[in-house]
Amino acid sequence: SLSDRLGGVFDKLRGRGALTEADVRAAMREVRIALLEADVALPVVREFVDKATEKAVGSDVLRSITPGQMVVKIVSDTLTETLGADTSELIIDVTPPAVIMMVGLQGSGKTTTTAKLAKRLKERERKKVLMASLDVNRPAAQEQLAVLGTQVDVATLPIVAGQSPVEIARRAMQAAKLQGFDVLMLDTAGRLHVDQALMDEMKAVADVANPAEILLVVDSLTGQDAVNVASSFTQQVPLTGVVLTRMDGDARGGAALSMRAVTGQPIKFAGTGEKLDAIEPFHPARVAQRILGMGDVVSLVERAAESIQQEDADKLAKRMAQGKFDLNDLRAQLAQMQRMGGLGMLAGMIPGLKKAQGQMAAAGVNDKTLVHLDALIGSMTPKERERPEILNAKRKIRVAKGAGLQVQDVNRLLKMHKDMETAMKKLKKMGGLKGLAKMFT
Ligand code: GDP
Ligand code: MG
Repeated sequence: SLSDRLGGVFDKLRGRGALTEADVRAAMREVRIALLEADVALPVVREFVDKATEKAVGSDVLRSITPGQMVVKIVSDTLTETLGADTSELIIDVTPPAVIMMVGLQGSGKTTTTAKLAKRLKERERKKVLMASLDVNRPAAQEQLAVLGTQVDVATLPIVAGQSPVEIARRAMQAAKLQGFDVLMLDTAGRLHVDQALMDEMKAVADVANPAEILLVVDSLTGQDAVNVASSFTQQVPLTGVVLTRMDGDARGGAALSMRAVTGQPIKFAGTGEKLDAIEPFHPARVAQRILGMGDVVSLVERAAESIQQEDADKLAKRMAQGKFDLNDLRAQLAQMQRMGGLGMLAGMIPGLKKAQGQMAAAGVNDKTLVHLDALIGSMTPKERERPEILNAKRKIRVAKGAGLQVQDVNRLLKMHKDMETAMKKLKKMGGLKGLAKMFT
């Protein structure tokens, strides 16, 4: 999944406090591959990645504390945006009859979807619906719709042999007007492939029926090919929306992303099975989450954050192994201890610090005093942090006041730092962390 891929990227980003443009681009390369694997069309992927990159680079993500989370959020937001912001209703509040015309390739699910939507409109909106099949190519296509009409208890236009699609459309309009139907659903013929004769037929029918909705029905399982179909239809008929069928199958979500981008129209419904109530309004955010595998993203972000902290710890350990340990280092370490769950976590975090932990515990340092220590170091000047020995009585009073504490608290901090520094120096004499490790293995 995309989150797995991004996990790999974030592992590579270990230890960096902020994401650079190169980092964002590396992450986006993975997003790109994941989208292609989810069957999103190449031009759509390109545009999507460009959009997300533009948003990520130079935005607050670079200064964010959890840059990984920001990238994931930007990708997720852009995905939702690309899929359409919200669910879209059918437009049927026009002078009746509101005509809904279904178009698409053969076998995409037009006839089934016609019956599903008719059932919905009848049951949920209390609309009086008439269905008509304009499919004169496939044998028994008109009978198929009549059978479905009986099943969902929706009227179908009586079949008259020998009429052209445009003639049937005219007859259907007339019947709908005369008999007071609110909605007329026109189920058209498909082809195996897009061809000009089909397009001309669609246009002629649309001219006669002046539909409020022209819905393109697309099989979500057709993946990349769905894009070619969608762009052909978009160029020739004024689509108002898309229905994605077979979303119950193992479609990888990519068709959805492509459809919205290619047609410029919202995906209004998703077909989720062969049964006649297996249709749902399309929820862009849910599909975005499915493509991203958002469930995993949270833990992924946590893992990324942890690895960055581990890198900080390694850096600190290195400095200490060189015998360097000023109050800045102490402060960084205190912050780490708080992040990592307090004193108890310290020993496991930095090898060789078990002893210092013992000393701190002996000195009465507990998790609550960590906050005090941080406040004390915070009210020092940079020079004082680097060279604590310059802290005379006057400076100590100032520092204590700044932290809302006592001079004795400053002294305790300095004592603790001294002890740890001594421990570091001893450690260095023993050959640093490597030497220590040798002693214990
Ligand atoms: P048409 O040629 O575009 O009119 O397609 P049909 O409506 O005849 O559907 C073709 C086949 O796809 C039928 O067997 C339908 O039951 C099936 N079908 C349609 N929509 C869905 C769907 O959302 N999920 C599943 N699993 N099957 C569907
Ligand atoms: Mg059909």
